[in-house]
Amino acid sequence: MAHSILIIEDEQDLALGVRDALTNAGFQAEVAGDGPSGLARLRASPFDLVVLDLMLPGMNGLELLKTLRRERQDVRVLILTAMAEEDDLIAGFQAGADDYMSKPFSPRELVARVEAQFRRRDSATPARARLDLPGGISVDLARLEVYRKGQVIPMTPREGDILEYLMRHRDKVVTRDDLLVDVWHYKSPNVETRTVDIHIVGLRRKIEVDPAKPQFIQTVRGKGYRWFS
Ligand code: CA
Repeated sequence: MAHSILIIEDEQDLALGVRDALTNAGFQAEVAGDGPSGLARLRASPFDLVVLDLMLPGMNGLELLKTLRRERQDVRVLILTAMAEEDDLIAGFQAGADDYMSKPFSPRELVARVEAQFRRRDSATPARARLDLPGGISVDLARLEVYRKGQVIPMTPREGDILEYLMRHRDKVVTRDDLLVDVWHYKSPNVETRTVDIHIVGLRRKIEVDPAKPQFIQTVRGKGYRWFS
């Protein structure tokens, strides 16, 4: 059955162009033109993916995303930003977005990203488990929670996937391209994207004793990242 996609975007020409490109690619796609009607559609039907503009009338995209994530974790969310402002992106990813695109973009590019979201990782992964890190920090990859100083900090499914991937490849340096291909399922990693770096920043805020001096997710200059624990 075709995956169903809701496009929440108030720029009508853009929304309809995206809808047509997705429909041509075999998806079921429909458009909501503002925040409240988008949320109402999401509550009424089990969409598989949402293309969510951040600047929306009625209710902004970030607010909508936070509300949605309180109700559903399984729907994939791709946010659209007018300017790739790092703070907006971090806020979007922390609120549970899976990926983003900066405007302007071509509908073909968006279709490729959406298809990547539905590509499944090889499921022969080791059991997700609880992990105790130095500094009194614990991570539960099954529950997607970080425990530190008596606090429970939720992780997004994507953050869990990244952590698991880094841990599974702890004996080597993991490049951004590795993550884009294996975790994000991009067909071609040769895209200009800060998605990986921004997710790493977000993860470090949750799991590092001092996010400014990361000890678990270390940067290997000019190469990528490596897990140390
Ligand atoms: Ca807009």
